[in-house]
Parts: sequence; C-alpha cells; structure tokens
Amino acid sequence: MKVAVLSLGGTIASSGTGGVTPRLSADDLVAAVPHLRDVAVLETATVRQVPSGDLTLTDVAELAVEIGRRLAGGADGIVITQGTDTIEETAFALDLLLPGPQPVVVTGAMRNPTLPGADGPANLLAAVQVAACPQAARMGVLVVANDEIHAARFVRKTATSSPAAFRSSSLGPVGWVVEGRPHIALPVPPPAIGELPVPGTIPPVALLTSAIGDDARLVPELERLGYGGLVVAGFGGGHVPGAVAPALTDLATRLPVVLASRTGSGELLRETYGFPGAERDLLAHGLISAGFLDGPKARVLLSLLLAGGADIGRVREAFGRAARTRPSP
Ligand code: ASP
Repeated sequence: MKVAVLSLGGTIASSGTGGVTPRLSADDLVAAVPHLRDVAVLETATVRQVPSGDLTLTDVAELAVEIGRRLAGGADGIVITQGTDTIEETAFALDLLLPGPQPVVVTGAMRNPTLPGADGPANLLAAVQVAACPQAARMGVLVVANDEIHAARFVRKTATSSPAAFRSSSLGPVGWVVEGRPHIALPVPPPAIGELPVPGTIPPVALLTSAIGDDARLVPELERLGYGGLVVAGFGGGHVPGAVAPALTDLATRLPVVLASRTGSGELLRETYGFPGAERDLLAHGLISAGFLDGPKARVLLSLLLAGGADIGRVREAFGRAARTRPSP
C-alpha cells in the first residue's frame, strides 16, 4: 500500500518557544513515528505551513488538485495533516471536490509536540492505518483523531484543548481504530451532490449567527459589501428573531440565503413552528434549508456552488441533495 502524507501546518507541526508556530515538515512528522513504516510505503509533501485559520477554500481547491495528481500517480490513499481549528470545513470541502473512491483522511493534533501526551504521532499513525485500509474507500473524506473515524460531513471541533474534541453529534463516529486495526462500523456513502468542479474565484459568503436582541442591521449591507450569499445559523430548529425575518426574506429575493442551526446537531425543522422568524416562515419566503449541515459546512457548500456559477435554483437543488445521505437513483 502506498499512502501520500501531505502537510499543511497546524498544531501537529508546531513547536518553538514563546508560543508554538507551525514549522515541522511532512518529513519531520513521518520521521517521528517509526511504526508508520510497517503500515504503508509513504510519500510526503509539505504543501502549506500555516495555522489552519489562515487556510482558504482556494488553498483547499489547490490541495484537491494535488490529491488527484497523487492518486493518479499510484497512491492508494491520502493523509492530510493540518490545524484542527478549521478541519471540519477543509475536510468537508475536500468531500465535495474529490470524486473518490480512494480513502482521503484528514488529521491533526490538539497537543503540540512540545507537550506531554502530544497526540499528533498517534493521530498520524491511525490516519495512515485508515488511509491504507480498503474498507475506508467510498466513504467520502474522513477525519481521524483520538482513535475515532468521523465522516467529514458530520464532524465538528467541540472543545478548545481536549484530545477528544471531535464529535459527530448527529451520527457518532463511523468507526474506530484499535491495536492498529481500523474498524468501519457505519459505512457512509459519498455526498449525494456529486463532485463539484474545482473552483476558480470563490465569491465571499457571509455567515451570521443569530443572538437574542439581534436587529439585522448587517443584513441589508451585505450586497453593498460584495457578498455573493449568506448563511444564517439560526436558533434551535431554524429560527431568527421576528424583527430579523423581513431583512432576510428581502435579501433572499436577490441572493441565496441558507438557513442552518447554531445548535451544532440535528436536522433543520421544516413544518413545526408558525411564528414570524420560524422555520416555516423563513423557508416559505425563499430561504434555503441547510438540512443537517451546520453553519460553517453550509457556507463551504454555498461558496463552492457560487464559485461554479450556480444560481439560486441550482443552490436550492444542491442543498436538497446534500440533506440526503444516499445518492439519488
Ligand atoms: N489549535 C490549532 C490546531 O489544533 C491551530 C490550527 O488550527 O492551526 O492545530
């Protein structure tokens, strides 16, 4: 088995004094884990050396091209190492951009290599074990950390420093790694949207989270500021303050406005609440449901769709498909 390890920086690659910063190369990361030699033949590349908050969707699109090249060149699986702060967005973007079927696994670390109990080496080893595992193919992109295997579509970083920071609240992990053996307990098919084209220019998409007392004063400014779309992470099942609803429904006549939930778990409601600003009101007036995608993931999907030139109709259709977990017949 041949696995390519491509590094982007982040805590897993960070060291130094006076505050750690990304500086270890992909070769350094691999050299620190001699057990990797027993798992696969490795090729390595340091693709970026940044904190993951500095990554952009354009970086991820370029990474997708590089992954395609490596797979075409004979790699059986791919491991990406990066910062954990944005892993839930980058892994989901790769999920949308890559055709599969080969395993693509994203990992990182919560404790940097200068700390006791650094988790990077164990996470890298588990990620390579999953990437070299035939059962991990046709699962879409996976995130491996703390010996758990998560689907990119569901996973979120849920803690600031715990090595158990990664959770897929709506689903749970799709598998685990024990004694070096990956166990896929829950096969998840690739996203039902179909592979999106690798984008050129990616229009800015705003992500606004609802909060009590919000008066929507930002919403009418978004078009003037050049945003191509908006994702609202509303309360609970998909609600905003009643005073905010008119600004959103007005904007939705001109730009795609996607409604997600700020709760971080579960699927958006469609037909339960009847008050102004509730999900029924907003969806009936042109907002598009994010389904089970949370705000950051919905923003990734909307950004990539707009980059491909999608109009509101295509955006609506793609989000409808994204809400399914099986490819349509
Ligand atoms: N704390 C982050 C990490 O876990 C830093 C980053 O995302 O680059 O890697």
